[in-house]
Amino acid sequence: TAKGAGRKRYHLFEATSRYDHVENFIHELALSKAIEKDELRLHYQLIYHPASGKAVGAEALLRWFWTHGGIMQPNDFIPVAEETGLIVPIGYWVIRQACKDWHQLKTRYGPLFKISVNISRIQLHDDRFVAEVLQILKEEDVHPSAMELEITESTTLHSLQEVQLILRKLREAGFTIALDDFGTGYSSLSMLTLLPLDKLKMDRNFIRDGNVPLIAAILAMAQALHLQVVAEGIETKEHFHLLAEMQCWGIQGYYINKPVPLMELPSSIEWADA
Ligand code: C2E
Ligand code: MG
Ligand code: MG
Ligand code: MG
Repeated sequence: TAKGAGRKRYHLFEATSRYDHVENFIHELALSKAIEKDELRLHYQLIYHPASGKAVGAEALLRWFWTHGGIMQPNDFIPVAEETGLIVPIGYWVIRQACKDWHQLKTRYGPLFKISVNISRIQLHDDRFVAEVLQILKEEDVHPSAMELEITESTTLHSLQEVQLILRKLREAGFTIALDDFGTGYSSLSMLTLLPLDKLKMDRNFIRDGNVPLIAAILAMAQALHLQVVAEGIETKEHFHLLAEMQCWGIQGYYINKPVPLMELPSSIEWADA
């Protein structure tokens, strides 16, 4: 009967949600120990600057080698880390590790090489964020001008004024700020003038869809606003040439390199004349 089927579905749904709950709890517990168990690692993806033919920076991308085997990708655990607040200590770990790695990167790529770190909105709303980050960089002997902070538009969901103030402080200290995933989600163009920004990271959807007029429009708009643009998701030679010809400031994607541990980053730029 319809009633029977409904009841059955209800039980099935209940069982599934209870399972999710338990699974989340296990993740949470394991994630809370990930730092002390030394299970977190940073992988790096180069940011290539076509105008000079050089790698000018690298983005740090977090990986969790968790106890039960396998690598957990950020999309599978960052949301849990954000919900539980664990992203705050994890985020500080990321910044410290990125600083340590920068000392190695600068010997390979030069002192102007920048390291980019993703910052979630929960981190930015930690009262001690600015002071703590500055303290970490001081301890690790890295000047803020060597670090770029990537934020997303969701950062401003709470209080725009608060975010403006924090970003201004960070920029005054020397950090550069990039707006990540530009062109997705809730992006509104007014954000570009409301937030103190240095860069836009153009979401890979634009590249994937091959929407040349839209890419051109974004590049023109960014130029008018004195913002540099890094194109994400450059996967093919065609993408690479297109964006280089359009004079996009920076290029990032699997075509340059897939995210890898520090030691596996290419030391030469074989793809420079690709
Ligand atoms: P994101 O900051 O936009 O990072 C770019 C993502 O695109 C990375 O995924 C990268 O591996 C992937 N990617 C790079 N090039 C290509 C390409 O050519 N094609 C395709 N299809 N994908 C490409 P990943 O490493 O899985 O990270 C996902 C997201 O997790 C990041 O997106 C970022 O929002 C977040 N995340 C990563 N590390 C951290 C972290 O340390 N802290 C915080 N708060 N968030 C992080
Ligand atoms: Mg990013
Ligand atoms: Mg991005
Ligand atoms: Mg993204």
